[in-house]
Amino acid sequence: MVFIFYWKRPANLKNMRIRTFEPFWLVKNGLLHSYPSLQKNLETEIVVLGGGITGALVSHGLLEAGHQVVLIDKRDIGQGSTSATTSMLQYEIDEPLVELTKKIGEKGAVACYKAGIKAIRTIGDLVANLNLECGFDFKKSLFLAHDENAADWLKEEFEMRNKHRMGVSWLSADQVWKTFGIRSFGAILSKTAASVDAYRLAHGLIHHSFKRGMDIYDQTEITKTEHREDGVTLQTMDGFSVKCRKVIYCTGFESTELLKEKIASLFYTYASVSEQGIACAKQLKDVLVWDTANPYLYMRTTDDGRLLVGGEDSSTNFPFFQQQIKERKYVKLQSKLDELIPENGFIEDFSWGGTFGATKDGLPYIGASPEYTNALFVLGFGGNGITFSIQAMDIIVAMLKGKKHDLEKYYRFGR
Ligand SMILES: Cc1cc2nc3c(=O)[nH]c(=O)nc-3n(C[C@H](O)[C@H](O)[C@H](O)COP(=O)(O)OP(=O)(O)OC[C@H]3O[C@@H](n4cnc5c(N)ncnc54)[C@H](O)[C@@H]3O)c2cc1C
Repeated sequence: MVFIFYWKRPANLKNMRIRTFEPFWLVKNGLLHSYPSLQKNLETEIVVLGGGITGALVSHGLLEAGHQVVLIDKRDIGQGSTSATTSMLQYEIDEPLVELTKKIGEKGAVACYKAGIKAIRTIGDLVANLNLECGFDFKKSLFLAHDENAADWLKEEFEMRNKHRMGVSWLSADQVWKTFGIRSFGAILSKTAASVDAYRLAHGLIHHSFKRGMDIYDQTEITKTEHREDGVTLQTMDGFSVKCRKVIYCTGFESTELLKEKIASLFYTYASVSEQGIACAKQLKDVLVWDTANPYLYMRTTDDGRLLVGGEDSSTNFPFFQQQIKERKYVKLQSKLDELIPENGFIEDFSWGGTFGATKDGLPYIGASPEYTNALFVLGFGGNGITFSIQAMDIIVAMLKGKKHDLEKYYRFGR
């Protein structure tokens, strides 16, 4: 005789999630490449400090330009913000074109927006030329008005982008609903955007540079620096020194601790990725979505058929309550998603949080800070961090040659 027992979980008892804070990309990819820590003194022309997506791109640009480069990171490669990002590659800056124009003038604002379009094409070419497997896909971008008022200013935004031929069209609420199944009050549809797995891209690029001869040291924290007129000496936590002509700081959000100038406000943002194959991941396969709400909701699909949703920023991050905060944020993200896409079928697989930053004009800080001699910084904060880091490849190379770059005045320190 066979007895079958069914254990029915009480409706109010939720499954205990044992794991949680790991970003999806880290779990999905694992540690792709590992490098030695620095256990000797060293001399080189340029040190790129930071092995995230910014350090990966900038060191690649420097090698291409013929420089001798050593890359150093205190963690394993890509384990900073690069593993937490949602990696939407947009030309659209967190500051709308109309608002940016009020701050820096129309010529500058248009130049910064167009640089974003160029950056997305540049990264597409780079990924194709080096044959990097990193889930890169060209997509469109949909900027939704979240209410009636927002639709008014978003139309004005559309007119200005259209005047400058940024490849945009205006969709009515009805068209957005019929095409994407999303509720809105109208939207700008832009034809240039992309998404990528930035963690994989950073590893792929850095490994490519390693094979070309770049020295890479991970698990090597720089704890002290001496910036002089004739160069820079970096001290590692293990007591070794690295002498170089220039340091390029690609140290992400932690850089705010190095600088007296207040360049960004930092806060916490949250992201959640669904299980594979949910219904709405198919309808949003070719488009990045974000809205005009504050904080804004953003979403994209992954190349393995998931929906990735982010937003719900918070200025506080009490370490002791991280788990509870993250769970509350996930519930809010889910309810905002339900408002936009009623039949979304979202089932959470991973959720995590990460530091995010906003500058006063949505633009990055790329260039020299008067606080450090013989150093250049590449700090692309905000929702376009990666697009700005792509632009930095050219800007840093030009600066090292002593050439003026068109964008440097908009991205300079002390502005
Ligand atoms: C949830 C979330 C969503 C986001 N979504 C987007 C998006 O959709 N699109 C977009 O463009 N951007 C987005 N961003 C921002 C984007 O992730 C960042 O701009 C980008 O990852 C920054 O890369 P980075 O290489 O500059 O910094 P990081 O990846 O943090 O790399 C900096 C590295 O410097 C190293 N380092 C720091 N100090 C030292 C030291 N003293 N010695 C040695 N090494 C050091 C760190 O270990 C780290 O690995 C998002 C961020 C988050 C958190």
